[in-house]
Amino acid sequence: MKKIFLFSICVGVLFWACAQQSVPPPEGDNTFFGTWETPFETPPFDLIEEADFLPAFKAGIDMHKAEIALITESKKKSTFKNTIETLDRSGALLTKVGNVFGCLNGANTNDTIQQIARDVTPLLSKHQDDILLNAALFKRVKSVYENKDKFNLNIEQNMLLMETYKAFVRGGANLDEEKKAELRTINDELSMLTLKFGQNILKEDNVFQLVIDNKADLAGLPEAVIAGAAEAGTVLGHEGKWVFTLHKPSWIPFLQYSEKRALREKIYKAYYNRGNNENEFDNKAIASKIAALRVKKANLLGYKTHAHFVLEENMAKLPENVYNLLNQLWEPALRIAKKEAEEMQAMIIAEGKNFKLDTWDWWYYAEKLKKAKYALDDEQLRPYFKLENVIDGVFTVATNLFGLQFEERLDIPKYHEDVKVFEVKEADGSHLGILYTDYFPRPSKRGGAWMNSLRKQSKFKGKNITPVIYNVGNFSKPTADKPSLISLEEVSTLFHEFGHALHGLLSDCTYESLSGTAVSRDFVELPSQIMENWALHPDVLKMYANHFETGESIPQELIDKITNAGHFNRVS
Ligand SMILES: [Zn+2]
Repeated sequence: MKKIFLFSICVGVLFWACAQQSVPPPEGDNTFFGTWETPFETPPFDLIEEADFLPAFKAGIDMHKAEIALITESKKKSTFKNTIETLDRSGALLTKVGNVFGCLNGANTNDTIQQIARDVTPLLSKHQDDILLNAALFKRVKSVYENKDKFNLNIEQNMLLMETYKAFVRGGANLDEEKKAELRTINDELSMLTLKFGQNILKEDNVFQLVIDNKADLAGLPEAVIAGAAEAGTVLGHEGKWVFTLHKPSWIPFLQYSEKRALREKIYKAYYNRGNNENEFDNKAIASKIAALRVKKANLLGYKTHAHFVLEENMAKLPENVYNLLNQLWEPALRIAKKEAEEMQAMIIAEGKNFKLDTWDWWYYAEKLKKAKYALDDEQLRPYFKLENVIDGVFTVATNLFGLQFEERLDIPKYHEDVKVFEVKEADGSHLGILYTDYFPRPSKRGGAWMNSLRKQSKFKGKNITPVIYNVGNFSKPTADKPSLISLEEVSTLFHEFGHALHGLLSDCTYESLSGTAVSRDFVELPSQIMENWALHPDVLKMYANHFETGESIPQELIDKITNAGHFNRVS
């Protein structure tokens, strides 16, 4: 799932590359102020210091303001070039620091970075409102919009004009002064609440540990899962014990395989009650305030609900269309889920137990049912899904489909030792972009998987500015004696996120604000779905799913089982 958070929202309407007008760059000793002397001008993560961020954000905002002042104070008539295009080119420094900070805040955060996020969030929210509610600027944007036929715009320019105008209208540019002030207050509150919500979840993710010191409590768990928990025990200060956490590679196998129902309940409840523990990280009041503010904002802007406001920017357009689609799925999904629940209950009875199937039993009995029906066990597959082999597989698919080549670069600085950096080349060997992969969970990383950009592709003064993209995941780690062997679900997620990465890498736009994944939120899932579908294609599996010890290709029998079980536990 593509990550959306304040920094990407904010810099999404601010833009990359130098302004045509001459606002001098800030001076001083800050890694963000100069040109980066790294390969392909990638971020010098080895030189960037946390102390650089806040001054760079502030300088970036000031510089952006100065660039916008040059637009609004111009005596020349508004044109596409001097207003829309110049706006697209403005805010380069802010985007530069925002992209790097956003990456670290999501994937390698710490208390200092989280404090900077709290300091900078209100500044960015205010800055965004200062732009979108700037009457003089909107007047110029509107003038170009209303006279668009005079500018002989090509398709991309027309799109940029439409999107820019829409961003201002949706940002409140047409409101009266009183309502503009109200919107500013709402945006400010929303930005802080959303940030706090995410920071609370991360705290809750890290605070819970299921510590097992009795070997009998490991009953049912596969060897590899036990080994991973033992290593987590050592790392987390419980030497000789086994620790399960709320990172996906830890709690999901526990729910799938643990025979200890009470412990399954414990870890399940811990995961689903994150933010619901009546402690300092409780998110209930925050969620409620966010929902109320979103309605208020939507109403203020003339929309019936928050859903109406959001969906206008999606292909679905209206809540009715979303419900129409969901309702087509709901009936058959419910029917199948009920049937599977009955089968699971029958299994419980057959085991001589008399409890009623509950949510924390679902993974465990689903796994058993899958084994009974399709003779397929997720753990049987892991040896064929060594992470490096899966990466080779996804790269090979991209080579076969798009002619892309991938070469690991050891000379490009990275923000964590788990990160790998690849140069992506076209079929003719020319440079296309850079891809960072960061696949293992750690306390400094939020849950889930996502793609984002450290630099988006665009074209400026005849030069192609190449994209710098990253993929983040939380997949099963290597253990002392085994490489990273990932689950079937993790394989699909890796291919999915790589689809988003390709979307960013293969972008061919002039303007940064239209580049890569800057498309309707529901359309953005198309490239990821396409790649996900390749992951388990029999021909593709045969290419990359080789046993990590023997090198033997995945047997046809297992491929058939994967295909047959494809609809299990989902709507067919
Ligand atoms: Zn996605």
